Parts: sequence; structure tokens; C-alpha cells
Amino acid sequence: ATVAGIDLYAALNEHFGFDAFKGTQEAVITNLLSGKDTFVIMPTGGGKSLCYQLPALVSEGVAIIVSPLIALMKNQVDLVRSYSSKDDVAHFLNSTLTKKEIKEVHDDLLAGKTKMLYVAPETLTKQENMEFFSDLKISFFAVDEAHCISEWGHDFRPEYRRLKEMMDQINPDIPIIALTATATPKVQSDIVKNLGLRNPDIYISSFNRGNLYYEIQPKIKKDQTVKSIVKFISQNKGKSGIIYTLNRKTTEELADMLMANGIKAVAYHAGFDGKVRADRQDQFLNEDVQVIVATIAFGMGIDKPDIRFVIHFNIPKSIENYYQETGRAGRDGMEGKCILYYSHKDVSKLEHLMRDKPLSEREVTAQMIQETVAFAESSVCRRKILLHYFGEEYQQENCGNCDNCLHPKEKIEAKDEAVIA
Ligand code: ADP
Ligand code: MG
Repeated sequence: ATVAGIDLYAALNEHFGFDAFKGTQEAVITNLLSGKDTFVIMPTGGGKSLCYQLPALVSEGVAIIVSPLIALMKNQVDLVRSYSSKDDVAHFLNSTLTKKEIKEVHDDLLAGKTKMLYVAPETLTKQENMEFFSDLKISFFAVDEAHCISEWGHDFRPEYRRLKEMMDQINPDIPIIALTATATPKVQSDIVKNLGLRNPDIYISSFNRGNLYYEIQPKIKKDQTVKSIVKFISQNKGKSGIIYTLNRKTTEELADMLMANGIKAVAYHAGFDGKVRADRQDQFLNEDVQVIVATIAFGMGIDKPDIRFVIHFNIPKSIENYYQETGRAGRDGMEGKCILYYSHKDVSKLEHLMRDKPLSEREVTAQMIQETVAFAESSVCRRKILLHYFGEEYQQENCGNCDNCLHPKEKIEAKDEAVIA
């Protein structure tokens, strides 16, 4: 595995201490190092970071890595620095830095010491930064969480739409690697189009999470649902879990009800200030509480490998969201139970929330909700439907790990027809 005179395995071992590449990593890295645009679609936890970090370390110049989450940028940079023992190997530029800090980053970049520069999209799209970037020797651009470019993704960020223009201004000949965990065919084509990827090689990993069990439960009355959740959690003593709710108030109500039933739980939503959120997140990560009851504000970038269940108290707003949120269970490959409580009333609530949005957004969302409803009401293998949504054909007849496969619903219509025949 030598590309352009670089022994990839030696580099993998030297810089990261790993013995083998995971999944498509080696092919991706080889492709990028040969100077081609590259598109990586890999589920969360699959190892996307290494796909650009290793090439950055072995290439001449600095790799510019666009990442949407300022909070995670520092973690990423700290992680890279911890492998390398040299602090100037990686830097980030975003709105949290002081003038003095920015100057230090600039100096390291101009001195050619830095191999990776993480930037927020708005940093790259600022005209005043253009001149500076244009003077750098850049190895490649990496666009992480590339689905942010698409309205059909679960986390649309309009600034991502301007990246291509800026990258072209800096230097149109630099290779681009785009990475995402969330590419439905629609999102995929949006990414290729909006980033102007030139005849990219696309590396798609399977999205199947075989260890996750999927179940949809009818949601009848609130107190009955709470009772059912309490029972479930009591049967899973000592196991950590997340409960997602649609609105903030419900997180607090539900957490209170769980506590009244002897379950250690905290509520989490974006209405709490940063300190409270950080404390509660820690309480959950350190297992001081068993359950965190949260809005979707919780979870992005959370790396707790042994979350054993994810319960949806309300229907999520898209299949994509459902997949991402349930995907936080069983990261370690062991058990992960995903239970969704489904009612028509919640669907109406979700639709109601959309009433003030602009028409185009309303249309997109309405379709996403309809797809989720169809998923919830289907008697087909849940896994098959989820994977189909990501453009993947699940071949097995019975996945053996969802409600529809384990307890097939009686096919009444089919029976009636058989009788008539
Ligand atoms: P993603 O961005 O796809 O969600 P990450 O890049 O954060 O995933 O990687 C997930 C985990 O996998 C990290 O803990 C990382 O250290 C580990 N990892 C990545 N590549 C390898 C490898 N080749 N061998 C072993 N562990 C790896
Ligand atoms: Mg990642």
C-alpha cells in the first residue's frame, strides 16, 4: 500500500497507532492522495476523520477542513495534537478565537508547520480571509458533515452553499474530499452538485446497524405511555438510555415522572444555559443518571459507546433524524434497543409546528413527515425500509431484530384473498 512513495500502513501506525484500516478508509485515502475528488459516505463511528487526517499528515501543505460545529472543532484539534505531540500540527479558526490567537494561528500556517486547519464554514466564506488562504500551500479541502449543504439533510446550513465559490476563489485546482454519515440519494446528489465535485469517486459503506433492534409502539394515552416506558427502563436496570421528545416542556415533565418512579433521569434542551447543559451531559456520560430526556439538541458528537436504548416519545421529523438518533445506541456493537411511540396526534403536532415556515421548507418537511409516517405504519422489516431510504437494498428476508420480523402482523387481507381464490 504505497501511494506516491508513502507507505500508508507505516503512516497509520506511526500517527494513529492502528494496525489496519477500517472499511473503505484505505481506498479513500489512496484516491485522495492521487489528487482526485473523493466522496465518502460512512455511518457515524465508521472512521471518517482518519480519511482526511492521515492524508493531511503525509501531504505537503495544509489541509483545510470545514466542520460545522464549533464546539467539536476544539475536541478534534486536541485529539490530533495528542497523537502528534506537536501542538502546531493542527489548528482551528472560528469566531471563538481572540485577535491574538488568530495571529498565532496565521503565523504557524505561514511558517508551514500546520498540517490541518479546521475552519467553520463562515470563516472560509468570509471575503477578508480569502487573501490569506490564497497565499497558503493547501494540500486539499475536506468538507466534513457535507450533508449540511442540503435542505434534504437533517442539518441544513446555508453557509455550506457558498463553500464551492470560496474554494474556487482560493484555488480551483485543489482536490476536495466530502464526508457525511447521512446520504440519502437526494442528499448525495445535492452534495456532488453544490460542491462541484469533479467526477468524484464515491465510497459508500453499508448503513446497516445489525445490533440495533427497532420497534414501533402505538401511543395511546400519555400516562399509559409513561407507564410502559417506566416498565421498560425497570427491566433494563443499570443500562443507559436517551429519551427524545418533541418539545422542551415534555423533557422536564417526563424526567420528573421517571424520577417519581425511582429512575434517575435528567432533562436536557437548548433552553437551559450552557453550564446546566454541560453538567447534565456529564451526569449522563458518567452514569450518575441512567436516562437523559432530551430534545434533539442533545446527541450530536456524543461519544458514549454503551447507550443501550433510545426511546422516541414523539415521532421524529424525518427518517434521517430517526436513523441518526437511534444510531446513538449500541455504538460498541452490543445491544441497542430503539423504541418509537407513535400516534397520529404527534404527527399533527409536528405539522402544526411547521405552519409559520416558508412554503418551500413546509413542502420539504411535509414530505419527510409523510415518509416517517409510512415507516411507522408499515409491516415490512424496519431495517429494510431504513436501508432502502439510504439507497441500500437489504437482501435478507428476515432481519431477526425488529418488531415486524420477530412478530409479523397477521396479513388479514392476504388471507381473505386466499379464501376467495
Ligand atoms: P466518524 O467521523 O465516521 O463518525 P470517527 O472518525 O470519529 O468516526 O472515528 C470513530 C472511531 O473509530 C474513533 O474512535 C477512531 O479513533 C476509530 N478509528 C478510526 N479508524 C480506525 C482504524 N483504522 N482502526 C481502529 N480504530 C479506528
Ligand atoms: Mg465525524
